[in-house]
Amino acid sequence: MSKSLQAIRGMNDILPEQTPLWRYFENTVARLLDNYGYKQIRMPIVEFTELFKRSIGEVTDIVEKEMYTFEDRNGDSLTLRPEGTAACVRAVLEHGLTGAGQPQKLWYIGPMFRHERPQKGRYRQFHQIGLEVFNIEGPDIDAELIVLTWRLWGLLGIRDAVKLELNSLGTSESRGRYKVALVEYLSAHLDKLDEDSQRRLKTNPLRVLDTKNADTQAVLVDAPKMADYLDDESRAHFEGLKARLDAAGIPFVINTKLVRGLDYYSKTVFEWVTDKLGAQGTVCAGGRYDGLVEQMGGKPTTGVGFAMGIERLILLLETLEQVPEAISRQVDVYLCAFGEAAELAALALSEKVRDQLPNLRLQVNAGAGSFKSQFKKADKSGALYALILGDDELAQQVIGFKPLRGQGEQQNIAFDALAAHLATCVVQG
Ligand code: ATP
Ligand code: MG
Repeated sequence: MSKSLQAIRGMNDILPEQTPLWRYFENTVARLLDNYGYKQIRMPIVEFTELFKRSIGEVTDIVEKEMYTFEDRNGDSLTLRPEGTAACVRAVLEHGLTGAGQPQKLWYIGPMFRHERPQKGRYRQFHQIGLEVFNIEGPDIDAELIVLTWRLWGLLGIRDAVKLELNSLGTSESRGRYKVALVEYLSAHLDKLDEDSQRRLKTNPLRVLDTKNADTQAVLVDAPKMADYLDDESRAHFEGLKARLDAAGIPFVINTKLVRGLDYYSKTVFEWVTDKLGAQGTVCAGGRYDGLVEQMGGKPTTGVGFAMGIERLILLLETLEQVPEAISRQVDVYLCAFGEAAELAALALSEKVRDQLPNLRLQVNAGAGSFKSQFKKADKSGALYALILGDDELAQQVIGFKPLRGQGEQQNIAFDALAAHLATCVVQG
């Protein structure tokens, strides 16, 4: 017996009842980013595997065990993108967008793929909106990235539910000195570290800092702190950022264990976290990656960016019941027509109305049907008004106008006056 066809585990359909919330979210972000002067870029979903190995780092969770990698028909190793920064940097270099030190403020949106254990807030295909800024090296731009996310949380009504955590990882030199001290300390307590941390101690020691293991966490209490190893430049940068966040009135906490899962970060790293979603609490995360472009073969070019997880933010909006009611109503007016002659007239009339009111959400009944069944559909559509066209109305060149949500009386409107009348009673987006 053949198995019924199903989507791949961890890869979800976003159903019609959910898409209004997605579009509301995406449109809110897009408008905000336009207003701050960011330009959208769209990269392919598949890239050469080498790109992610070189940028994200070989000894990271993503590259070690989460990538969807396959050989294509030419024998090339390709990977479904697990994140957006690598491809964005590749595109920027390939098209010379940052040549001669030119600043770029870019954003992208789209699906990402990671072979993780699916659970609430963690999927194998998920969606991110990401920002990347090149060739602006001061803390002012780090602050702008945070300020605009703060504004976004305000627009979405979720400010009270998220908290900003900040850390500085220094330059690669100061981080190198810190790593030596950390490895020395942890090696002296090797027997108290969990297995994963023992392995990471050799491959990627900073990652030990974000262990979830309680015994290892106890060891970390007295471990050396990155803050004590910061070089002067990184320290000044971090102070500059904190001063700007204070000036903007944005609360934050310093989390010295915040290291982020990717190799390429330097100086500023940050996460917006919530305690409303259980274990999957990070809704937006990023930082500075001043060495990445050069590491990928470009001229020295500073970079800073972040990505937010759309599924987690949608979940948060639903959990906090911050879903605006208006977004689920997608029809303003529903037109019912009875009989062939009325249907023909309704088509001509509705197209004329659309010419005059291009933003009107007008649904014309399709599939004929009795009075009762068409009214039922009109009501179910969520429309505010029904328009009724039968032989009697047609003979008089009028159309019945019926409020469906208790706002006023039914009346007949002349064909010629319909658009003007609708304009007065329907707010057009
Ligand atoms: P986590 O620690 O939760 O695994 P991460 O550090 O791997 O997150 P990033 O690579 O920084 O995540 O991605 C930025 C954001 O994308 C995360 O903060 C989160 O909101 C979202 N995200 C990451 N992985 C997933 C996933 N598998 N499913 C849903 N959202 C995700
Ligand atoms: Mg992860």
